[in-house]
Amino acid sequence: MAGSAVVVGAGVGGLATAIGLRRAGWRVTILDRRAELERYGTAFGIHPTAQAALDRLGVGDAFRARAVPYRDGRIRTPDGRVLASLPLERIERRAGRPELLISRPYLLDVLQAALDVPVTYLENVSDATSLAGAHDLVVGADGINSAVRATLFGSRGEVRRVGTVTWIGVADFESAVHGETWGRGRFFGLTPIEPGRTNWYAAVPEATDAGDLRALFAGWHDPIPRILSGTDPDSWIRYEMRHLFPALPTFVHGGKVALVGDAAHAMTPNLGQGACTAILDAEALTRAVARHGVSGLPPALRAYDAERRRSAQRVAFGSRTLHRFVRTERSGLRDSLVRLLPS
Ligand SMILES: Cc1cc2nc3c(=O)[nH]c(=O)nc-3n(C[C@H](O)[C@H](O)[C@H](O)COP(=O)(O)OP(=O)(O)OC[C@H]3O[C@@H](n4cnc5c(N)ncnc54)[C@H](O)[C@@H]3O)c2cc1C
Repeated sequence: MAGSAVVVGAGVGGLATAIGLRRAGWRVTILDRRAELERYGTAFGIHPTAQAALDRLGVGDAFRARAVPYRDGRIRTPDGRVLASLPLERIERRAGRPELLISRPYLLDVLQAALDVPVTYLENVSDATSLAGAHDLVVGADGINSAVRATLFGSRGEVRRVGTVTWIGVADFESAVHGETWGRGRFFGLTPIEPGRTNWYAAVPEATDAGDLRALFAGWHDPIPRILSGTDPDSWIRYEMRHLFPALPTFVHGGKVALVGDAAHAMTPNLGQGACTAILDAEALTRAVARHGVSGLPPALRAYDAERRRSAQRVAFGSRTLHRFVRTERSGLRDSLVRLLPS
């Protein structure tokens, strides 16, 4: 039997959860504090496992129509020498399909178009307790500063800055090179995003202003200085890298509340897994809920926690570790180690 659910947050995790619950026949209310879907954000890498989850949610074809394959990415030094290749070929060989990239707004559009219930905007949830009284299931998909987590899961997970900000943007041409370029204490990324455009991000120490960026990356290989001088700093977006630490002991509470995505395990973006893990959470949660029905919510939530918590927290740990490794000032040692990776 189906029940009534409220999903707090209309990001990737919340919209994907709402889709899964609607497919299981649940009545779903989606609340978001914003006035509309935020139409900014970088290109998200979607791994084949998350693509398969999107297929199971019935949105795989719509997603692929807006996505581009990511097949050739290298790690380079600032003067352009290749240190290693990203494991994209291996991923494709093993999964039988490539990693795909999609811009955050397009992914949100795809998910929202698949929903047959509207999002209720300008609903800033501050205390999830009353929602739990009014619905069979409460899903906290409200991002890194989750109010659902804060009110119902205690204070164990803290939002921590990692000392790095990322300036992100989109260049109106296709770069011939993709991947990441690692310098001392800073790095620059270039990925496809859609035909004719290139997604870029510059990760620098927290105190860096947009005005310092051109000098910090002067002399780096093409097209990095060209991108920074050719785009308007007013169009760059500042994205602060943060994560949740320590990891939560559970993603579920009281047999009727579950956290998904950043609310459960916000991570630094270094492994490009923030959106993937949110999609995998949403699909696993709604699959368990559909299987057990409203009368079996406690076992459904336990099954979800068992399937996703350790796995997502391992990814978050890996991403944080990679962040420390990449942004080190000891770049000589780092580069020597990276050269040992299989190409
Ligand atoms: C505007 C925006 C831009 C982003 N850009 C990037 C990017 O460029 N690169 C990157 O790696 N990651 C970015 N992220 C994070 C990335 O989207 C997530 O890591 C990933 O997609 C997991 O999504 P999520 O659904 O768990 O959380 P989020 O995408 O953060 O979505 C959470 C949603 O919950 C809503 N919300 C929050 N608090 C409340 C509340 N109290 N009541 C009601 N609603 C609430 C928010 O408005 C938001 O829509 C961005 C997130 C946002 C919100």
